[in-house]
Amino acid sequence: MRKALGRFASGVTIVTTAGAEDAESVHGMTANAFTSVSLDPPLVLVSIATKAKMDSRIRATGKYGVSILAGDQEPLSLHFAGALHAPETVRFVWRNGLPLLEGSLVHLACTVEASYPAGDHSLHVGRVGHLWYDDGHLLVFYTGSFRSLQVAGHDDPWG
Ligand code: FAD
Ligand code: NAD
Repeated sequence: MRKALGRFASGVTIVTTAGAEDAESVHGMTANAFTSVSLDPPLVLVSIATKAKMDSRIRATGKYGVSILAGDQEPLSLHFAGALHAPETVRFVWRNGLPLLEGSLVHLACTVEASYPAGDHSLHVGRVGHLWYDDGHLLVFYTGSFRSLQVAGHDDPWG
């Protein structure tokens, strides 16, 4: 499964949540199982392992943030996966009562619309209440390793 699914290239996100707007109550974790679900209403989805602390934290707060990482944020993705201790790279900005990672390409602040059990993961569907985005290099996860993807232009190919 991992070898096959690792060939589906993805971006990398940090999923965050907090019970109150203070640094003490923040929890974050790295996730690449993130997808867009619906435009109207605006819904996204994260798949979180039931054994991850994040699963019960999201159930408790009923909300989560998604920060899509930029090309130079690999240390953050390792930090929030517990693979590297790099707290000096962690800086939050607050939107809709949710912490989001400074320097990321996209910020989404979501309230949980529904949560579904799915094997050893939970699927948390979130309604997007705030979004912000920027252009720049993107962090890509492919076959278990990270790459920085430089995007030449941002013209709409359909437009
Ligand atoms: P912990 O393991 O306790 O926390 C994760 C790390 O974040 C710890 O090092 C902790 O110190 C740090 N941290 C937490 N809160 C803060 C804070 N407020 N300030 C500073 N540091 C903090 N798992 C999934 O379930 N779904 C996925 O889609 C997924 N995708 C992944 C993609 C990649 C590229 C990688 C590398 C891992 C992925 N994982 C995924 C695995 C997941 O990131 C780890 O299992 C993670 O450790 C689970 O976090 P946890 O909630 O159990 O908390
Ligand atoms: P990897 O080779 O484990 O990951 C390749 C792909 O396999 C991932 O992109 C994902 O699609 C799938 N995958 C891996 N572990 C999974 C899991 N526990 N549940 C569901 N799908 C999973 O990459 P790696 O660099 O060895 O990963 C580092 C760590 O992060 C490992 O412990 C891995 O389990 C975890 N991880 C978990 C998920 C997830 O839970 N969805 C996704 C990616 C990585």
